[in-house]
Amino acid sequence: MTTLDLRITSDDQRAPIASRSDVLVVGGGPAGVAAAVTAARSGASVTLLERYSSLGGLASGGMVLVLDDMINGQEITVTGIVSEYIERLQKLGLAIVPPAEDRKTSQELFDKWGRYGTFDFHSQGNPKPVCYAAAFDPDGWKTVSNDLVRESGVNLLLHSWFSRPIVDGGVMKGVIAETKQGPQAHLADIVIDTTGDIDVASRAGAEFIQDSYISTLVFRLGGVDTDRAEEFEQSDPKAARAINRKVKRILGGAWELWWLKTPLPGIVWCNAPHMTGYDGTDPASLTRADFAARDRITEAVQYVKENLPGFEHCFVVDTAPQMGVRQTRLLQGEYVMTKDDVMDRRHFHDTVARGRDYYYPYRSLLPKRVDQLLVAGRHYSATSEAQKASREIPPCMAMGQAVASAATLALEQKLLVRDVSAVDIQQRMRQHNADPGDIPSGNASTRDEEAVKS
Ligand SMILES: Cc1cc2nc3c(=O)[nH]c(=O)nc-3n(C[C@H](O)[C@H](O)[C@H](O)COP(=O)(O)OP(=O)(O)OC[C@H]3O[C@@H](n4cnc5c(N)ncnc54)[C@H](O)[C@@H]3O)c2cc1C
Repeated sequence: MTTLDLRITSDDQRAPIASRSDVLVVGGGPAGVAAAVTAARSGASVTLLERYSSLGGLASGGMVLVLDDMINGQEITVTGIVSEYIERLQKLGLAIVPPAEDRKTSQELFDKWGRYGTFDFHSQGNPKPVCYAAAFDPDGWKTVSNDLVRESGVNLLLHSWFSRPIVDGGVMKGVIAETKQGPQAHLADIVIDTTGDIDVASRAGAEFIQDSYISTLVFRLGGVDTDRAEEFEQSDPKAARAINRKVKRILGGAWELWWLKTPLPGIVWCNAPHMTGYDGTDPASLTRADFAARDRITEAVQYVKENLPGFEHCFVVDTAPQMGVRQTRLLQGEYVMTKDDVMDRRHFHDTVARGRDYYYPYRSLLPKRVDQLLVAGRHYSATSEAQKASREIPPCMAMGQAVASAATLALEQKLLVRDVSAVDIQQRMRQHNADPGDIPSGNASTRDEEAVKS
């Protein structure tokens, strides 16, 4: 038997320069589109690279179909581009948001809105309060993303898979993307990594950790009589609970409500199965996850057709084009957010974005060592436990807007991105109608700021 040397070097290919921009954004998910559009609206020339055939990341390709984590009690805490998406989707009839008068706690309102997933799932109460959140359609998300990118003049390249950073003396200069035409080089003064797995930052030499959380191949069912299913659930909750328990067992885990209504009649989305132990950066592991998910989905669909009123004639409309990976590599940047920071609602002197009731310091979007590189989205600088509680779509978009604000300020002020002042970023965020979280809510912990001031 021979021993093979499996290491093959292939960096001898020449890559033509395909773009030169002020700002290069890698990854066209929620954080990336928010970053690219914000930077372009500030007058920067922007190139956006996306590996897949459409924009949206997990919001479209992963079919994650509820925008949440935007409220602190009755206060709406995440604004800016996410609000524009909601408005545009509503105009297309492709988003559903409970009106202000229904954002309260009552069984009647929960019965009306719960199955859209538009309730505060962090609340311990029963019923949970109906809140400001949006159930939306994945193709609508792609359309709105295209419109925003086109209107702001972003140079978008789909089908461009980042493979290597171009770094000179610790300073980012651009990236190489793999395409059907071979490798292409994209040069820029500032690079923003929004790949969700810090593909760029990790390869450029930034510190990171790697962990995992639940993976899910989201699926949608059509032909569901949702009125009948809800009526059954409300009239015979005990029987409905037993059936739903069995479905969740087959799926190997799901959130409390395993199916949710969408803006499309008769079509529900299923944020399940819950699968642990898969590595979202390893093709072999992702392949095993795909097989495991499909087996569970097939069995669950057969069971509900036979047992759950309203689902007798259901069928699988689609499974998400991409595996729903919640966590892989996480930046360990200038500040690493901890679970206590999130849970204590710790406010920072350099807060530039916020989620539900937690705050992101600018330092958590800045890698150590590598210059002119920023990071936004679910791979931001955090511990694994902190990230699990602070990675929903709207806050990822707020982070994208914050780093774009920092990037354009750095260009205007001729500074390194790490030297841009947080106060300036906050002001720029406000110009983009985005809440930078500079004014802490009443329930925030402000000990960090007190320490800096004293
Ligand atoms: C199953 C599941 C359910 C969830 N439920 C909810 C929910 O109900 N509500 C909610 O708000 N959030 C939910 N989340 C979390 C949320 O979807 C993500 O945290 C959020 O989408 C992260 O946005 P992002 O832009 O940081 O990353 P992503 O959405 O992952 O986008 C990253 C983008 O970068 C692209 N990319 C990656 N690598 C490369 C490369 N090498 N070259 C070029 N492009 C690249 C990807 O194709 C993608 O478009 C859920 C997540 C999952 C997986």
